Amino acid sequence: MSQGTLFIVSAPSGAGKTSLVRELIESLDGIQVSVSHTTRDMRPGEVDGVNYHFVDMATFDGMVEQGDFFEHARVFNNCYGTSRSAVEKLLAAGQDVILEIDWQGARQVRSQVPEAVSIFILPPSRDELERRLSSRGTDDHQIVTARMHEAVSEMSHYAEYDYLVINDDFTTALEELRALIIAHRLRTPRLAQRHQPLLNALLSD
Ligand code: GDP
Ligand code: ADP
Ligand code: 5GP
Repeated sequence: MSQGTLFIVSAPSGAGKTSLVRELIESLDGIQVSVSHTTRDMRPGEVDGVNYHFVDMATFDGMVEQGDFFEHARVFNNCYGTSRSAVEKLLAAGQDVILEIDWQGARQVRSQVPEAVSIFILPPSRDELERRLSSRGTDDHQIVTARMHEAVSEMSHYAEYDYLVINDDFTTALEELRALIIAHRLRTPRLAQRHQPLLNALLSD
């Protein structure tokens, strides 16, 4: 069984990464999103174990001490982390895995898995980012203001990523994301690994 690829997706809050990734995995086989642990409050409509594993600070700290996280970081005064065992299991089963994580987490992942592919999603403008953050209607005004403030600092890390996608028209951005994942799967080492029997048969005497 070939090992799956790790895709890192980062974006400022409100740029549309959760919506894009949700649609992406519905339209492609063999790819799953890692469900992070977080200490932030659950938003209306979110489901524990689906959007995040919602845990308290003591549980999170315990997991850090046990070395349970592949990466973890503090974002907007909340803690977020990716479970090591969950990601390793999926990759070993040949699944591609998307990590929706911030730039600090992306750095930690790259240092452990240099072949991870990273994608940064940008909004078409600052005004549109603010509009999306407010119109999502899941965070109060104070939180939206704080997230807008953080957005510029998150976006300043765009150059650390392999690919950039501008989420202006949703369908176009989704197609671009799909295209780069499909193209990655056709890279010679990946394809040769998955189709070894075919290559053996084609090359046999
Ligand atoms: P949203 O991006 O506006 O939907 O807000 P979230 O509260 O879902 O995420 C806040 C930030 O935490 C974003 O920058 C995410 O990329 C980041 N984040 C979420 N999960 C993780 C994780 O497991 N690890 C790290 N390092 N960052 C995460
Ligand atoms: P993130 O996960 O990056 O914080 P979301 O996926 O929650 O972002 O998107 C933020 C809001 O913007 C949501 O209400 C979503 O429906 C909306 N949105 C996402 N992409 C677009 C787009 N291309 N055009 C208009 N609205 C969008
Ligand atoms: P939100 O609270 O709006 O769901 O997410 C806020 C930010 O936290 C997002 O930018 C998201 O990418 C980041 N984030 C979510 N999960 C993780 C995680 O497991 N690790 C890291 N490093 N960041 C995360």
